[in-house]
Amino acid sequence: MSSRFLVLAVDGGAGTGKSTTAHSLSKALNLMHVDTGSHYRAITRALLDLNLLPGDVEEYLNKNTLPLGTEVIDSRSCLLINDIRFEQSILRSPEINDSVSDYSSQASVRGLLFEYQRSQVQVARENNFNGLVMEGRDIGTVILPDADLKIFLEADPTIRVDRRSKDGETDQISNRDEKDASRKIAPLVAANGCIRIDTGQSGIDEVTQSILEVIEKLP
Ligand code: C5P
Repeated sequence: MSSRFLVLAVDGGAGTGKSTTAHSLSKALNLMHVDTGSHYRAITRALLDLNLLPGDVEEYLNKNTLPLGTEVIDSRSCLLINDIRFEQSILRSPEINDSVSDYSSQASVRGLLFEYQRSQVQVARENNFNGLVMEGRDIGTVILPDADLKIFLEADPTIRVDRRSKDGETDQISNRDEKDASRKIAPLVAANGCIRIDTGQSGIDEVTQSILEVIEKLP
């Protein structure tokens, strides 16, 4: 691999190990880590705080906007809404787990995040990272279709549910995946040209290592 600025897209369903893998790749290669799930979670929190139901969001966002910003903490890029960064404990609460897919399926919500997420490539350059690793559901298909490498993670649902409960989270994973995969806009789907990795039986080191080997061989 040449020493070019590296853009990695990591997609997959809930509990497939996206965050752990992306974090590990960011550390190994000095990449900025962008967790787009946390963007949708933060927007959901902000919209719930405004007492907006998913069906009310479009009308609201047609007339108002949510000012978005970025704070880079270590290797992680965090979304600010009105200069506020929500803590992980807030973003990963059962209330957000239950409602995030209903808000993220709204065209107006996705529209709000589209340019913001794309602009993260420039944020990574300005902060002198060697590239960025962005994780989500539509990164390889919609947000960064020209990524140097697209990775799609999958794992048996029983293993994924088990992982979430070990993290102490209440999360209807299958329910969320079904909504995310069946929505009209930017559904969860493997991108053309991606490499698919089953994280069910392998440890994080093994998964990371196998991706690093693919990166090494990139033209
Ligand atoms: O990755 P995480 O489980 O935190 O994502 C939370 C939710 O955010 C997903 O279930 C999905 O509804 C939404 N999401 C999305 N597109 C992305 C990332 C997340 O719709 N790129």
